[in-house]
Amino acid sequence: MYTFEEIWGNQRLLLHLRMAVKNQKTSHAYLFIGGAGAGKRMIAKTFAKYLLCTSQQEEPCGICDSCRVFGSGNHPDVIHVTSQKKTLGVDEIRRQILETVDIKPYHYDKKIYILHQAHTMTVQAQNALLKTLEEPPAYAVFLLLAENSDAFLPTILSRTVTLKISPLTEEEIRMYLIQKGLAAKEEAAFFAAYGQGRIGHALELIEDEAFRQMREDILAQMSRLSAMRLSEALLLAKEWEIFKNDSRFLDIIGLWYRDLLAAKSLRDEHFIIQKDKKELIYAAATEPAEVLAKKAAAVTKAKERLIQNANFRLTMEVMLMELKENGNQ
Ligand SMILES: [Zn+2]
Repeated sequence: MYTFEEIWGNQRLLLHLRMAVKNQKTSHAYLFIGGAGAGKRMIAKTFAKYLLCTSQQEEPCGICDSCRVFGSGNHPDVIHVTSQKKTLGVDEIRRQILETVDIKPYHYDKKIYILHQAHTMTVQAQNALLKTLEEPPAYAVFLLLAENSDAFLPTILSRTVTLKISPLTEEEIRMYLIQKGLAAKEEAAFFAAYGQGRIGHALELIEDEAFRQMREDILAQMSRLSAMRLSEALLLAKEWEIFKNDSRFLDIIGLWYRDLLAAKSLRDEHFIIQKDKKELIYAAATEPAEVLAKKAAAVTKAKERLIQNANFRLTMEVMLMELKENGNQ
C-alpha cells in the first residue's frame, strides 16, 4: 500500500512530487485540492511515506524501518490533524500542531502534519497556523487536504504549494477496478459511472451492500414497469419513500433509461454501462429512442424537483406518469 505506482491518474502531479523529493526541493506546505473521494488522502500519504523513506529510490521502498512503520499506520513522525466537529478550529490547531511542532521528529528527518478537511479551518485557526507556515522548523512539512480553496486566507494560499487533484475518467476507474480485481468486468463500468471520477466513491459503493440491493430492487421494478397498469405503477411512489433521503435511486433509474437508449439507438453493447444487466436492458428497450429520451429527461426533472424540496410522493407520481406515457399499453 502507498506507492506511486498504485495511484491512477494525476501523473504530472505525482511526477512533480517525486522530483521535488529527489532534488531535495520540497516545500514546507502543500495544499491538495480535490473533491471527496478524489484520492487526496492516498496521494498525501504516499508523498509522506516517500518523504520519510530512507532508501532514496524511485518509490517509497517498503522495506526500510520508516516504510515498515508507516505500513502499520502508526508512524511516530506523521501526525494526522483532525476535528470531531464540523470545522477545524483554533483549539485543534493549537493542541495538535502548535504545541508539538517545536519537538523534533522522533526518528527521522522530517515531521509531517496531514490536515484533514482543511477547507473547514476557521479564520482563527488559519491565523494561528499562519505563523508556523511562515517560519516552520526545518523538519516540518504540512500537507493540507481540502475539497476547495474558497475558504482559505490569501496569506495561507501564498505560503502553500497548491496541487489540484483531477478526477479520473470513467474509463480509468473502470480499468482500475478490473485490474485490481475489485469488481467483475461486467459490473466495473457501472460502478465507474457511479463514481463520477472519484475512485474512493466507486470503492465505497462496491462495499455498500444496501446500495447493491437497492439497485437490484429498482432495476427489477423498472423492467416490469411497462407491463404494469398505471394504478400499480403509481404504488411505487409510496414504496420508494424509504429512499426519500437517498437520491441515488433516481440515478439508478436515470442510468436505466440511458442504457435503454444506448441499446435502442446505438445497437452496440459497448455503449451499455450496466453490462451485468444487458439481457434485462435489451428486453426492455422496445420503445422508440425519442420516447426513451423523454423518459430519461423526466427522471432528471424529478431529481431537480427533489433538490428544490418538492413533495416527494407527488414528484414520484408525476415522474411515474411520465414514464408510463407512450408505453406499450
Ligand atoms: Zn523506505
